[in-house]
Order: sequence, then structure tokens, then C-alpha cells
Amino acid sequence: MIRNIVVVGGGTAGWMTATYLKRTFGDRLDITLVESARVGTVGVGEATFSTIRHFFAHLGLQERDWMPHCAASYKSAIRYADWRKPGTHFYHPFERLRSVDDFSLDEWWLRLDGDVESFDTATMLIPALCENNRSPRFMDGSLFASRLTHAVADIGEQRAQFPYAYHFDAGLLADFLRDYGTARGVRHILDDVVEVRQDERGWISAVTTREHGDIAGQLFVDCSGFRGMLVNQVLNEPFLSYEDVLPNNRAVALRVPVDVEEQDLAPYTTATAVDAGWIWTIPLYGRIGTGYVYSDEFCDPEGAERTLRAFAAPDQPELEANHIRMRVGRNRNSWVKNCVAVGLSSGFVEPLESTGIFFIQQAVEQLVRHFPDDRWDPGLAKAFNARMAEVLDGVKEFLVLHYRCAARDDTPYWKAAKSRPLPDGMAERIEAWRTLMPEDTSIYQPFHGFEGYNWKIMLIGLGAQPPAARPALAGLDPAPARAELAHVRAEAARLVDELPSVHEYLRHLHS
Ligand SMILES: Cc1cc2nc3c(=O)[nH]c(=O)nc-3n(C[C@H](O)[C@H](O)[C@H](O)COP(=O)(O)OP(=O)(O)OC[C@H]3O[C@@H](n4cnc5c(N)ncnc54)[C@H](O)[C@@H]3O)c2cc1C
Repeated sequence: MIRNIVVVGGGTAGWMTATYLKRTFGDRLDITLVESARVGTVGVGEATFSTIRHFFAHLGLQERDWMPHCAASYKSAIRYADWRKPGTHFYHPFERLRSVDDFSLDEWWLRLDGDVESFDTATMLIPALCENNRSPRFMDGSLFASRLTHAVADIGEQRAQFPYAYHFDAGLLADFLRDYGTARGVRHILDDVVEVRQDERGWISAVTTREHGDIAGQLFVDCSGFRGMLVNQVLNEPFLSYEDVLPNNRAVALRVPVDVEEQDLAPYTTATAVDAGWIWTIPLYGRIGTGYVYSDEFCDPEGAERTLRAFAAPDQPELEANHIRMRVGRNRNSWVKNCVAVGLSSGFVEPLESTGIFFIQQAVEQLVRHFPDDRWDPGLAKAFNARMAEVLDGVKEFLVLHYRCAARDDTPYWKAAKSRPLPDGMAERIEAWRTLMPEDTSIYQPFHGFEGYNWKIMLIGLGAQPPAARPALAGLDPAPARAELAHVRAEAARLVDELPSVHEYLRHLHS
């Protein structure tokens, strides 16, 4: 067993890695985390993916243990505003589509001449909860799905896609995890790594710090952010850019304080399409995180900041803007020799589906599964690298769909989005979806977090490729599907009535 682990970096990636490994292996691992007091963290990364609950569960934490410390709130969906055309919106919720007679309800809805503006509220429950700012939990803590009168097989305690994720303050989460980790024996060093020592094989033997000397280890986890200090700068692993297919390479972010007493917390992230990209709005408990993601081919930083301020905080010119240059793509390999890159040093796609922290979680889970012993079997690194490459490449392809299939084409940016190259095999898949909408067997196949229903919701919602009704349904009795659509409406109305607002529920949790 490898015993000495050195984590370089104390952002979300560094602390998630250190705490997860500590919780898993306990005193069998000695973990040292070194972070610079001078180089800040990226300072964003506040919306998550639904699998994040398994991370907290692994640490043995309940929501009440950590949420109040991290200004956390619920995220049941992403609301896509203005992607079809200005003034329109739809939700991409954490909710699988239900089936009637083995055909998905949205297919029935199409067959019954559904109106594209309402496909989300017609076929799923969560969009109505979002429209009304409802909490996904009742005041007694039970999940909304646990009280459905008309049982839906898949919406409950599912492993892959739980019905909600979280919004939280990334800085507060890092502080919380630091306290959690150090209380359990993670050694924390605040210092700059200024040099990296390698043995004759090129493996890392120690990192040299400015004030604490050499920190030796057997396994080094590079959580140093976009700079990839160990994996790219020292071990020279090539970085494969995604910019040919995903051109957004910059962002500017603001932290907008709000009075928590007056806040009508929305349980969703909003992604609003604007002239040269999109703006995220992430409601935290007592603050809004917001930022404009754009391509510098179509907008400069000053213009982006002006647009963001006008959109999100026109009356607060004193707020400091955080300009970020994004490195979009992934390392050819994230595990090289005795170094494993986790977080932005490993890879990143733009934050449109909030997958940065999901990648971190994937990496630490996979690191545990592939953890080496003294033999350092190269098959472990190979398998780990294959998993990580698949996850990142899959999400890349899912995001490419967002731009290619958005009906919006009113600016040079949105026009160009329709003619960019596509990842291998994607053109054929998009063509096939003209006849039959995406399903689990016709999307990018390796695990990447998203399922057939996610691709389908986006394809319908984005609007550039009108969905086709499946001919087979013309030969089936539509009565059960009509009844199911009526059930969805009734169930959604009842839930809106009975569930507390997010604000009400969180105030209770915080107290
Ligand atoms: C614009 C934008 C929006 C995003 N939005 C989301 C989102 O909504 N949801 C999501 O899941 N993800 C999002 N992400 C991704 C998310 O922010 C990151 O995955 C997450 O913050 C992890 O960052 P990190 O820890 O890898 O790197 P960083 O936060 O950059 O941390 C790097 C660490 O390395 C340390 N360091 C650097 N150099 C040295 C040195 N020489 N010596 C010692 N220490 C050093 C720094 O001190 C710091 O502690 C977003 C990213 C961007 C760019």
C-alpha cells in the first residue's frame, strides 16, 4: 500500500481529494495538503451535479451538518433562458422521463400534438416546483418524491441522478472541508511550492516549499488549478484543447450580496443566452453568484464585464469583477508516473452543465478504485485515465449539442456556433435524432453522467431541430398516456401547494 500522499492545492479539488481519501483509508494514509497563501483559488464553481450528495454521504455528513456553513441551497434544475429565442425558457431538471406502454412520456406528448413551449411542465414534475420556488423537501425533511400518490419508478433515491443537487459558496466549502480534514489528521501546510524534485525515472520524489523545505511523498495529487503545476509543467503531459468545438475561453464573475430575509430563493441555476455566450445566475443563501462565459473571438473582457454588470448588478458598481481565462480541454492522461491530476489541472469544459466538481468527484472515486500499491501496476493508471477521458469527452459532446442545437442565431457568435466542427461520430448521431429522439442507446456511450433523457430534454428545449413524433405511437391507444399527462399536472399542482418554499425550508435548516 502507498502511504504518503501529497496534495498540492487547496481549492475545491484539493480539499475534496484530501477529505475523501482520508475518510476512505483513515490512518493507513498520511496526507499532506500544501496550498499557497499567495496564489488564490479560481473563486467560482458554485453549482453542482446531483451525484454530489454521495460525496457528502461518504464523508458521513448530513445536510444540516454542512449546508449552513457553506451558504448552500438547492438546485433542482438548470433553467435555460433565451436559448430558443429571447423571451423563452425551459428547464433541464434532475428528473428522468417516465414511460407509458414502454414509450417515453415526451414521445406521447409529441404524438398528442404537444406544444414545444410547455414540454417540460407537461411531462415532468420538477419544472413546476422551479416555477414556484418550491423546496425539494417537506418541512419534516422527507423528499418530495417520497410522497407521490402516483408512484414514479425512478425519481426517488436513485444512485445516478438524485432529484436535486446544491448551490454553495466554493470558498466556504473549502474552509469547511479543511476543518473536516485537519480534524481527522490531514496535515495542512500554507506555503508556496517553488520547485519539484524528481528521481532518475522522472517520478516526483518531493515538492520544495519556500518556508517548509521539502515535502516528500509517494503519490502526488496535482490540484494546482489551470496551471497544472506538476502534471503539465513538470511532467510535460500534453493538454488536448477542446476549443475547436467549444470556443468559450473566458469568463467574468461577480458576487452579488442579497438580503437573505428578502430573498425568494430559486431552486435552480439559470443559464441565460446573451450576445456572445451565456450568463450564469446561482442563488446561494444570502448571495447571488453570477458570471458571463464567452469567447474572446466575439467579445472583449471590458464588454463582457459591462454586459454582466448591466444584467446582474446595475446598481452596485463597487462589486469587484473576477476575470478568468479558462483552459478548456483535458490532459492526454491525468495520471502520469506517480502524479494524479484532479480538478482544473486535469481538465475542464465550460460550466454550462455545472460539471467541474462532478469531474473532481469522479476522479477521487476512481482514484480510490484504482489506488496503487508498491508495484505501481501500470494497468491501474491506464484504466483510471480511460475513465476520466471518457467522462470529460462525453460532457464535451453534450455541451456541443447545446450550441449546435440552440435555435438562437441572431448574433455572429450564435451563427458561428452552428457551423463549428463536431466531435467524431456526433454528426451521425444528430442526424439519427431527426427520426428518433435520443435514448440511452443512441447517445455518446461511455459513462459521462448524462443519460438519454438529458440529451432529449436539451434537444427539444433548444429548438433548432424540431423533434419528430414516433410513427409507432399512431398505432397505440393514447388513453393511458393522456391519463399520465393529467396525473403529472395534478401531482405537480399538489406538490406546489404542499411543499414549503426553498427559503422557508432553509431558514428552518439554518436555525
Ligand atoms: C468560470 C468558471 C465557472 C465554474 N463554474 C462551476 C460550476 O458552477 N460548477 C462546477 O462544478 N464547477 C465549476 N467550475 C469549475 C470549478 O471552479 C473547479 O472545478 C473547482 O473550483 C476546482 O478548482 P481547483 O481546486 O482545481 O483549482 P483552484 O481553485 O484554482 O485551486 C488551485 C489551488 O492551487 C494552489 N496553488 C497554485 N500554485 C501553487 C503553488 N505554487 N504552491 C502551492 N499551492 C499552489 C492555489 O493556492 C489553490 O489553492 C467553474 C470554473 C470556471 C473557470
